Amino acid sequence: MQGLMQDYPLTIPHMFHRVERLFPTKEIVTALPTGRQRLTYGEWADRTRRLGGVLDRLGISADGRVATFSWNTARHLELYFAAPCTGRVLHTLNLRLFPEQVTYIVNHAADEVIFVDKTVAGLLWPLLPTFTTVRHLVVIDDGGPFDTSAGVPDGIELHDYEELLAGADAVEFHVADEGLAASMCYTSGTTGNPKGVVYSHRSTMLHTMATMFADGVGIRETDKVLPVVPMFHANAWGLAHSGVATGADLIMPGPDLSPKALAELIESERVTVAAGVPTIWMGVLPELAGRDTSALRIIPCGGSAVPKSLSEGFREQVGLPIFQAWGMTETSPVATVGSIKSTVADLPEDELADIRAMQGLPLFGVELRVLSQETGEAVPWDGESRGELQAAGPWIAKTYYDDPRSPESFTDDGWLRTGDVATVNAEGYIRLVDRTKDVVKSGGEWISSVELENEIMANPKVAEAAVIGVSHPKWQERPLACVVVKEGEELTKEELLEFLDGRVAKWWLPDDVVFIDEVPKTSVGKFSKKDLRSRFEGYELPTA
Ligand code: ADP
Repeated sequence: MQGLMQDYPLTIPHMFHRVERLFPTKEIVTALPTGRQRLTYGEWADRTRRLGGVLDRLGISADGRVATFSWNTARHLELYFAAPCTGRVLHTLNLRLFPEQVTYIVNHAADEVIFVDKTVAGLLWPLLPTFTTVRHLVVIDDGGPFDTSAGVPDGIELHDYEELLAGADAVEFHVADEGLAASMCYTSGTTGNPKGVVYSHRSTMLHTMATMFADGVGIRETDKVLPVVPMFHANAWGLAHSGVATGADLIMPGPDLSPKALAELIESERVTVAAGVPTIWMGVLPELAGRDTSALRIIPCGGSAVPKSLSEGFREQVGLPIFQAWGMTETSPVATVGSIKSTVADLPEDELADIRAMQGLPLFGVELRVLSQETGEAVPWDGESRGELQAAGPWIAKTYYDDPRSPESFTDDGWLRTGDVATVNAEGYIRLVDRTKDVVKSGGEWISSVELENEIMANPKVAEAAVIGVSHPKWQERPLACVVVKEGEELTKEELLEFLDGRVAKWWLPDDVVFIDEVPKTSVGKFSKKDLRSRFEGYELPTA
């Protein structure tokens, strides 16, 4: 027997119409170099409808890719809705990708138009001749100094955003098919060229709802949401959509992500939700000292491991620990959240801090499993046994966009292989140990490069450190520590090994330590082990 409910499509115009009708006086605030710009959702909705008219006027195809090269701003939010609500596909370009990667993804996605903020136009301009499908370039004047009078290559038309909007008619938004692509985002390409992830209207609607769950991030109408996490990387963790869906005020930080500017926004706009990666909060914490942060209710944080000390630092100073979440571009991105179950809530504060340092529980709607890499079986929930974390659910990618590498990342039964190594404890909390490519496989056992480098970085003389596996005739691989010593300090291999003795198991101690000037980073600032591995390929470990 079939259910008898309406087959009502889950499409993004629903969010748009709701905020337009119910919350027209709520605000989107953008911090621009020229000052703070305040726009009501009513004004925003009118501009967004006219932007839909602009896309028609420019002749963008029915499912044409509309690229953005933009900070978190109200205008970027106009594009976030005008493209999918007219059936086109929003393609957010990551401002921090290497130039050749930007060229690759613009051409691979076949972008027809790029909307670019003037503050970052200088990064894009030299690449224009390398784009093969782009026909229009629209400059958004956000107060940046770039001079556009040099013009653009033949075949591309240059426009001004506000001029286009002023001359455009508002259009109706209607999308009937929830399976259509709404937006796309490329991974940051930690290994090889970036891979395209394509979100549907349905996946975006469901992921947005999940960020509104009380046991998720719990975005609600009374919130003032500050997404520090970029709208160009993994959809600002869904906060741009859930802000609109709930009618919450959005506080957009624009180009200035300095700790002082963010602290100032948090205080003066009475922000309730502030979301960003750990390095952002490391910088912001000292800036919050002495400020009124009483409006803050949750600080979502992820993208890389959240150090316990950072979360505890916030708890002590701001009265609110960090709320850790885990996810990937491929998972829309939120897949786990660090909510505290009632069954553990009475544990001593220090144990709670350990739980908060984990990646958390699967969000309702997401299925996770951790499979042993030896047996392929699910590992026991003992908090110790490790395996590869795999994910399934309505907002998890099933394949990459037009990419022959897809089969490597998906299992035969359709789960996403996250490439992360994890444990699960008896309460179901996931703890990430490492990435599968980065664990050091020593004699059939795994050494977590992340845990080892965290212990090395606990040495006060160490600025940063990365651990890689190098091949070993007997053990297959052994750890090599690549260490950057703080300026003005001196450190020897012996001193470091002595420091580690007792902090990690004996067989985890690195076989050698090399001192380097800097750990190479990916475009989004994560350690690039790939570069380190090629630099130390064939490295001969001492034999004693
Ligand atoms: P990329 O693979 O291009 O770096 P993402 O930005 O989507 O792309 O990063 C996803 C990865 O970031 C995850 O697979 C995981 O390794 C890491 N990550 C995300 N959140 C966390 C977290 N809370 N703790 C530890 N690592 C995290």
